[in-house]
This record gives sequence, C-alpha cells and structure tokens, in this order.
Amino acid sequence: MKNIAVLGSSGSIGESTLKVVRSLPGQFKIVALSVNSDIVKLKQQIKEFHPKFVCVKDPQAAVKLKKQLGSSIKVLSGSDGLVEIVKAKEIQQVMVAITGAAALDPLISAIKSGKEIALANKEALVMAGSLLMRLAKAHKVLIRPVDSEQSAIWQSLNAQAPVNVKQVYLTASGGPLWRLPADKFKQVTIKKVLQHPRWKMGRKITVDSATLMNKGLELLEAMFLFNLEVEKIKVLIHPEALIHSMVEFNDGVIMAQLSATDMRIPIQYALSYPDRLPNTLPGIDFYQLSQLTFAKPNLNKFPALALAYQAARDLGTMPAVLNAANETSVERFLAGKIKFLSIPKIVEKVMQRHVKISSPNLNQIMCADAWAREEALALAGNFN
Ligand code: MG
Repeated sequence: MKNIAVLGSSGSIGESTLKVVRSLPGQFKIVALSVNSDIVKLKQQIKEFHPKFVCVKDPQAAVKLKKQLGSSIKVLSGSDGLVEIVKAKEIQQVMVAITGAAALDPLISAIKSGKEIALANKEALVMAGSLLMRLAKAHKVLIRPVDSEQSAIWQSLNAQAPVNVKQVYLTASGGPLWRLPADKFKQVTIKKVLQHPRWKMGRKITVDSATLMNKGLELLEAMFLFNLEVEKIKVLIHPEALIHSMVEFNDGVIMAQLSATDMRIPIQYALSYPDRLPNTLPGIDFYQLSQLTFAKPNLNKFPALALAYQAARDLGTMPAVLNAANETSVERFLAGKIKFLSIPKIVEKVMQRHVKISSPNLNQIMCADAWAREEALALAGNFN
C-alpha cells in the first residue's frame, strides 16, 4: 500500500486520481486531500477515503470544517497547510493537481522532502522549469508527468539521454477551432470556443486549446522535463488524439505512445510507475480504426503557439510572462471583455515590454508573473 496525498482533489485530475485509487483496491491509501473551495465535494471524499489530513484554501473555512469533522482529521489551510501535508512523513507520494502558481510552494517542498511526485500542474514547470528541475536533480527526485503528452514522451524516451533524441513530436488534437477558416476567427464567441471536440475540460484550458497556447505551454513543459532543446520539439496536429506524442531517436527509430483518450491512463502510470497495473478501461480497437491523420500547425492562424516558441528560445523570466499574460487575457475573454483574437495580441505586447532576467530566482519569477498580469490587464482595457 502506498500512502498518497492528492492536492487539488475536487478538480478533474483530482477526481480522476480518486477513480484510479478506487479501481485498484489495496494499492494506494489516500492520506491527505486538498481543495481550493469545494467543501461539499471534500466532505464526500472524506467520507469515502478517511484521510488523515485535509487542506482548504481559506483559513476561516478550515476553522468551520474542523468543528464539523472533530479531532480525527487534521484540518489545515492555505499554502502552509499544503506544505505541511507534503512534508508529512506518512506520505510517500504526492499528486500535484492544483492549477496555477499555487502549486509552486507545495511542489518545491515535496521535492525537497524527496517524495514521489506525480505532476499534473502545468504552470509551475512553465514558470520555474529550470529551477524545479535543478532542485529535483539535486534531491534525486523523478518528476512523473501526468499530462498525457508529457507522459507519452516520458514513456517513449524510456530513460534514454536527450543526446540520443533527434526530435519529439508533441501531438495536439487541434482544439475546437482547428478547421475554422482564418477569416472567421474575428467573430469567434466564448460559446464556440468552449465546444471542444474531444474532451470536456475546464474553461481556461479549453480556451488555451483553441488558441493552441495549451500546446505552447506543453512545449515549454517538455523542454524542462526532458532537458530538450526547443528546436527538437515539433508540434503535430493529430485530430484522432490516439498517439499522445512520439520520440524520434538519432537512428530514425520512432517510439510512440498510444492509448485511449482517458486521463486515468497517464494518472495510473504516474502513480504505479515503474509497474503497469491492469485497468478496465476500453483499449484501442485497431480493427475499427480507419485512419490516423496528421498536419502541421499554421503559426499565422495560431500566433499563440509562435509566442510560446519565442518564450522557449528566450527562457529566463519570459515563459512566466507568457503564462501570466495569457492567463489574464483568457480571463478577460471569458468575462466577455476582449475578443478572441486579442488574447495573443496582448500576450505578444506584454512579452515585448518585458525586460527579461536570464537566470531568475523564485522571487524574480513571481515578480515577473505579477508584472505581466498587471500589464495584460491594463492592455485589455484598451483592446476590445
Ligand atoms: Mg495535454
């Protein structure tokens, strides 16, 4: 039995993690759960999994919850609570499924405590990838990716050194607007963007999937996770989304990872690694497959992807600025304040205005992040 903490247990990855745990009785014990604000869901999860620790964001909500739960469970709050959980000696493995920069502190503590880490959060790596990977190396911690593409690259690489890699194909479904003609992008509505052809995901990531910024963030993640040069990573549109990514080695041999499009598969592998445990999910039926298709992304139609490549070449604080400016712009778009096409325009402007710091520490990264959010918000007021 492995003792795990699930940080972000009410979100879609968190809930899928609990499904995996439920489907593999005797393998994992949930020792800690954390949610941002969904106390109702947390209470249901507590009833089922009986964790030793829980954490909620708001300290007052924690006090209230403590009264309701009694003394059998330790109720913590905020970032300090998350850090206390990942440091707890009862916990061997941490699933980091919190979104945004809030994952940074607990992730750093988990690395320093030498815990097994399954990482579903994108922003931490995008913002502070160099720093985190250096830290992981120093503490001999392997970060096991949960994102389906990163999991595919990880599995296809199979511990080969980056020097043996010719290139990586980072696959993308293309998102909800892939087939829309470029001249229609002007009138794209929030509703249209939120209709993703393949997956039901959160609103922010669905917008990122429409701009292809999601793939851009994944490009940065892959660079850091696998120590690859940006030129070696190629985005490949693959609408069937069965190949989750591929690695081509120097000798021309390509290893790909295929599986059904279900997040429980990469989640389970991140938890069970290096073992491969059975599951009851449907596999791929090759007899029923008529074809797999591929295309090269058009960077003029999807400028967000070009911006991510730019940030990947610039490095330093630029990826954090890209991420923060994008997050703010997407939020403004979802609030109905700016047009779809303004998202990459604002990100580009903020990146142009940024004076990059080449080897930033965590504080400098957080400052760049805060600066980019303010810039983007101010710019959004002038766009519509
Ligand atoms: Mg992905």
